[in-house]
Amino acid sequence: MQDLAFKDSLTGLNNRHFLKERLGVELSNAQRLHYPLSLAIMDVDHFKRINDSYGHPAGDTVLRKLGLLLKTNVRKGTVVARWGGEEFLAVFPNMELTVVAMIMDRFREKVENTIRVEDRIVTISAGLAQLRWDNGSSLEEIQARLIEEADQNLYTAKRNGRNQVHWQPVTSESAALNIPPVPAAQPSPSLSLPF
Ligand code: GH3
Ligand code: MG
Ligand code: MG
Repeated sequence: MQDLAFKDSLTGLNNRHFLKERLGVELSNAQRLHYPLSLAIMDVDHFKRINDSYGHPAGDTVLRKLGLLLKTNVRKGTVVARWGGEEFLAVFPNMELTVVAMIMDRFREKVENTIRVEDRIVTISAGLAQLRWDNGSSLEEIQARLIEEADQNLYTAKRNGRNQVHWQPVTSESAALNIPPVPAAQPSPSLSLPF
């Protein structure tokens, strides 16, 4: 039952609920171990047209294929999930945005070259963001801002013509914000988080 609650039944991937929980853990790890963390939100281009032209079951097949391609093309340590509808999310712990941009652009190309509905090419757009620390915000606020930033970049990728990956380069000013604050000392070892 526990497993079912965290799984998306169509693709077999983790679901949004799982991802939200897991992202909290990944953020704490990034803070504790002082490493960067990047995130990608992907969205199928003109998916409604696929449903309208070929039917809902054909749309479902596209989502299953995309889920499988994602699952089999990410390196160990990447957390992937179906975020909802025709949107997928990937979290890359300990990875800089520029590296994730290369990985995601390769993945975008792979989708374009492999997923078809009859003879129509299926493409995706993606928005990326890198974790930025801010002493005045809670982990929840930082997490929400990370997702929001990736979502804004996805929107830009769509507006710029789709079938592309969009991100804002990390500037030297924002790079300073990538240094995580030292986490608060644990009151006793028995209260440490279990990871
Ligand atoms: P854009 O390129 O801007 O993303 O356009 P779009 O058509 O992909 O986006 P839009 O949000 O207009 O349409 C998304 C569609 O995805 C509408 C919804 O019916 C469909 N959809 C959501 N979940 C599922 C699903 O599980 N299966 C199928 N077949 N369709 C789904
Ligand atoms: Mg969408
Ligand atoms: Mg879409």
